[in-house]
Amino acid sequence: MKNRYDSKEAEKFIARYPDFPPEMGLRVYTSRLIGQEEDLVLHGGGNTSAKATMANILGEEERVIFVKGSGWDLGDMEPAGLPGLKLESLCKLRALESLSDEEMVNQFRINLLDASSPNPSIETLVHAFLPHSFIDHTHADAIVTLTNQANAEELLKDALGDKIGILPFIMPGFPLAKAVIDLVESQPDMECLILRNHGIFTFADDAKTAYDRMISYVSKAEDFIAEKIEANPLPSCISEECPDTDTILPMLRGALSYTETNGFKRCFHLHVRSNNEILCAVNRLEIKDLYGGGVLTPDHVIRTKNYPLFLDFTDLGSPEEMKAHIDEAISEYTSAYHSYFNKQTKDKKVERTQLDPLPRVILVKGLGIVTAGKSLKEAKICADICEHTLRAKTASASVGKYEELDSCFIFDMEYWSLEQAKLGKKSPLPLEGKIALVTGGGGAIAVGISRKLLEAGARVFLSDIDEERLQIVHKGLSEQFGSMVRPLTMDVADPQSVVLGCGKIILEAGGLDIVVPNAGIAHVANLEDLDSAAFHKVLDVNLCGVFEIIKAVIPVFRNQGTGGNIIINSSKNVFAPGASFGAYSASKAGAHQIGKIAALELAELGVKVNMINADAIFDDGQVSSGLWDVVGPDRMRSRNLDPQGLKEYYRQRNLLKTEVLADHVGNGVVFFASDQTPTTGATLPIDGGIMAAFPR
Ligand SMILES: [Zn+2]
Repeated sequence: MKNRYDSKEAEKFIARYPDFPPEMGLRVYTSRLIGQEEDLVLHGGGNTSAKATMANILGEEERVIFVKGSGWDLGDMEPAGLPGLKLESLCKLRALESLSDEEMVNQFRINLLDASSPNPSIETLVHAFLPHSFIDHTHADAIVTLTNQANAEELLKDALGDKIGILPFIMPGFPLAKAVIDLVESQPDMECLILRNHGIFTFADDAKTAYDRMISYVSKAEDFIAEKIEANPLPSCISEECPDTDTILPMLRGALSYTETNGFKRCFHLHVRSNNEILCAVNRLEIKDLYGGGVLTPDHVIRTKNYPLFLDFTDLGSPEEMKAHIDEAISEYTSAYHSYFNKQTKDKKVERTQLDPLPRVILVKGLGIVTAGKSLKEAKICADICEHTLRAKTASASVGKYEELDSCFIFDMEYWSLEQAKLGKKSPLPLEGKIALVTGGGGAIAVGISRKLLEAGARVFLSDIDEERLQIVHKGLSEQFGSMVRPLTMDVADPQSVVLGCGKIILEAGGLDIVVPNAGIAHVANLEDLDSAAFHKVLDVNLCGVFEIIKAVIPVFRNQGTGGNIIINSSKNVFAPGASFGAYSASKAGAHQIGKIAALELAELGVKVNMINADAIFDDGQVSSGLWDVVGPDRMRSRNLDPQGLKEYYRQRNLLKTEVLADHVGNGVVFFASDQTPTTGATLPIDGGIMAAFPR
């Protein structure tokens, strides 16, 4: 592992924070160096601290400790992520016999220098009790690869030498802090402390030495493991056929969904990850022996659960067989989880609220890693941890035999009282975990629909045939919603393009819950002058496009088995057609009818199909409506109006004398998509009230 310390950079960091003692700049600098090394820490893992002397508000000098706050990543550390605490008060706690986690956190909070700081790390007392000025702690892959072995002590001494201390696994918090300081005091020349099944601490009185030691000890472990791998290589990789993801991913996503105690129907975001190294791992014959053990370090259990689920679709030809395999595997997994929970609560004589028993990591032969997260971010974090875990467990097999941490400790971490206290406090957004497809993504109405779906918590795939317009809309929305909104080039009038597009969504998100056929084009001509080719083109997009999308998503809904919503952006013209607008009105009426047929046919799958009849939506502020780009100029000419005048004309035309916006259509879509009423086959007008277009 590369040592990235650069004295000039370190000086710059000291200068960057003049309101703090120099220790702060150095602490931020080397925390970031550690944080950028994925083999050391992942997603908020690890922690660091520095001690310094500072004047308080009365001008009195006092000893303080800055230690990583919860919710912060070492890689983007700032002083705000290193809350300061009064060191002397914390050190006095060592005299106590015991200290509950709740009281410990209370002691942290009453000793903060800034009352608005985040909670300091749960490992703060380890940092406080140790006398060294700089302490670095990571869950380095190479270190845990060695600690999670039956003969770990022997291996660690072989690999790292004599100036190390080794402790068995002890729960983070007060007991660990006492054990650490006791051991360090008994061994004054110690440079590094290894915690079995957990990680490594290095320390020194200056930032550079503490960091140097971290890199040097981890490098020693890496070299030692590399030698073992060379001496005992695993059999070479084999290739396996990839199962049909279009079928198995929605099935898997459906099987993982459940109803929470508050009645919320939880769907997961799935994330698929694959590369040569991952494929090599999941295709191994002895996959369960190699990767079936528990987590590398207990921190991970919150993200990944303790065990992965294995799926192997070899020789399973029919969808029924695939579904049976998934259901059986998940049922085995959940019953093992229930047993673990019941045993631990009984053994420990504690009451806890059981978390969902479902796996977060699924290893699929021929495909790779599939992870499940309540948010997209959670699913990706889970996959990052899983990738490192597979690598470490593969290496473990060359070193010796992987030995997982006893589940009684895993339980303490997974069901830690402070985490339990947070349960049920945050209510989910109505569409959290849901995946949506909005076609006609380059237009104004799609912006309103997508924005409202995203605000309600859904992930949105926006499709359009016009890549340029799509990019403009996507860019605007992604500034606010990041990777929760994704562009997809697709031609709704081309069945092959639609099937390919749906396949891409499934591979990226695992399934689909909300479908909004919204793509439409307009053509202005009297029937006498209506060119046949133009008429067919309008039918292709507005009618056939809706049919193709609905047809393509039915198997997804069927495989998922969790219902769904189709909301067709229909038109006021269906009930109140206009002259010179034959192609548009007829095609929209056809699509409307397809929607009603779909409502009839898909009710048995729990899929609801509803229509929104909107009228006179011109733009969304940034993006114009494709429809009004076509019909606007003609209507302005015939009524002798400018663009503002035309908007005003339509406002005055409706009963409520109101301007209809794309966001209003979005609200209608969210209403249907969030299953607030048992409604299907219905039409919701969003037009300010037009009597001629009242549904009947
Ligand atoms: Zn730790």
